[in-house]
Parts: sequence; C-alpha cells; structure tokens
Amino acid sequence: MRLILLGPPGAGKGTQALRLVAKHRIVQLSTGDMLRAAVAAGTPVGLRAKSIMDAGQLVPDEVVVAIIADRIGQPDAKNGFVLDGFPRTVPQAEALDKLLAERGLKLDAVIELKVDEGILVKRIETRVAEMTARGEPLRKDDNPEVLKGRLAAYRAQTAPLAGYYDAKGMLKGVDGMAPIDDVTAAIGRILGGKAAAKKVSKKPAGKSAAKAKPVKAKPTKAKAKTKKDDTKAAKKAAKKAAKAAKKAAKKAEAAKKAAKKAAKKLAAKAAKSAKSAKKAKKAKTGGKSRSGKGKPGRVKAKARRRLTKAS
Ligand code: AMP
Repeated sequence: MRLILLGPPGAGKGTQALRLVAKHRIVQLSTGDMLRAAVAAGTPVGLRAKSIMDAGQLVPDEVVVAIIADRIGQPDAKNGFVLDGFPRTVPQAEALDKLLAERGLKLDAVIELKVDEGILVKRIETRVAEMTARGEPLRKDDNPEVLKGRLAAYRAQTAPLAGYYDAKGMLKGVDGMAPIDDVTAAIGRILGGKAAAKKVSKKPAGKSAAKAKPVKAKPTKAKAKTKKDDTKAAKKAAKKAAKAAKKAAKKAEAAKKAAKKAAKKLAAKAAKSAKSAKKAKKAKTGGKSRSGKGKPGRVKAKARRRLTKAS
C-alpha cells in the first residue's frame, strides 16, 4: 500500500501515519524527520536545510526529491509506504509520479486531513506553554510565530496539491479536527473501500491479464493439442485392437477346424480299431456273436460236414 497524507503542519499526519504503519506493515517516510536527522548528523544536506527549517520555510525541491528517491528504493519500503510531509509542492508531486512510474509503482490513495488553521495555532500555543512549564526542550520551529509562517507556506505551496490529486481522482478528504480514533476510523474506511474496489476490479484485470499473457494461453493450446493427440491415439488403438480381434477369430476358426479334423481322425481310428477288434473276436469265437445267436444255420452245416468227413 502506498499512500500520501496531506495536511498542514500540526494536522496529525504523523500520528495517523504511525497507525497506518502498524496496521498495514508499511514504512512511514517523513521528509521532516529525515531532514531533522540530517541536521543532527551534520550532513551536507542537514547543513543546507537547517536554517531553512528553522525559519519554517521549505527546503529546495531537489533536496527532498533526492532523499525520497533513495528512500523508496530501499528494501523496507517494498511492502509499501505512507508519505508524511512529502510532496509539499507541485514539482515534488510531479517528481514523485516520475519516480513511481520508473519503478512500476502506483499510489493507492491521497488522504487530506482537513483542519481549522485558527484551532491549530491555538493548539500549538497551548502545547508550547505546557512544554515550557515542564521545562522540556522545544523544537526551533515549534512556536506560534514559526507555525504561522509554515501555515502560510502550506497555503501557498502545498494546498494546490489537493487540486493536483483531485484531478487524478485520487484525493480523499477526512475531518482532521475529529478525535484521533475517529480520524483513524475514517482513513480505515477509505482504505477498506479501496481494497474492496481493488478486489472487484481484480476480476476483469485477471481476465485481460490471462488474455495478454501468452504463457497463460499456452496451457489451453497444449490441452487442445493433447485432446487431438488422444483422439488420434485412440483411433489407432481401436484399429489395432480390431485387427488383433480379427486375427484371433481367424486363429480360433483354424483351431476349431483342426480340432474337428482331429476328432474325425480319432473317430476313424477308433472305428477302425473297433472293426479289427470285432474281427479278432469273431475269429476267436468262430463267428459266434456275443449274444450266442450268430448265424446258427451256417455253423450247424459246417459241423455236420465235419462229422460226415470223420465218419
Ligand atoms: P515537517 O516535520 O513535515 O513539518 O517538516 C519540518 C520542516 O522540514 C518543514 O518546515 C520544512 O522546512 C522541511 N520539510 C519537510 N518536508 C519537506 C518537503 N517535502 N519539502 C520541503 N521542505 C520540507
């Protein structure tokens, strides 16, 4: 998630940014904090920015753009970021657009905390009085006079950004004078709605992505090819099976024929052996049949002839 929090100094951008960081596991990129760190470290940027900041003026665009360009490229910003105090001028916003486009990144929302400047001044006067009473150190730009100057700078240089992002359809306004939790809830609703819209718009995007990606189209083609191949292979297999069946039938027919022939041969053999067995029996029994009936007339004549010969 990549967000911009817009609003004049003291509007509560830092407080809301910290809550967004915790909720969405993103980083807070505050150019004010980075510049203060540079001032404290005495870097060339810090040395250049110090007096400008103390006066409540804006540091040159190229300085803050260079800081942000370096920061959004760092690994911890990969998951997203909330920009707090940047951009502060239209040229900074244009530079940010370019930086994001170069990295193929997009902003999810620009949230403007709308506040009453008069109340802000009163708030800072109360805070300064309380801190002074407690003996706490004050930031050089943390006094009503400097705040008035910063508010003037905001009106002149930063307020036009609302129109810049509104024209892009990205601007969402929140009542920054509401209690902190209510502001957080309002931001949550904006981002929740954004997430829901993103989910809905993901469907057609997914479709077009599938269309655009030849890699996605490949499996469909491959599937069709496989199907075609399958049909071809099935046809081939069926043809092969029919051929085999025909061959088997032919073989079976031949076997049937051979069996018939063998049975015939066997039957003939059996008949032959039966015939010879009968013949042998006949010779043994003298032509008498097993029943003893035979041909009695002929036997009797033969015996008579034998008897006549003997006498
Ligand atoms: P902040 O803490 O955001 O209010 O910033 C403190 C001071 O740092 C501002 O008054 C400016 O002098 C300087 N500063 C922070 N951010 C920017 C920026 N984006 N452009 C120019 N100056 C900035």
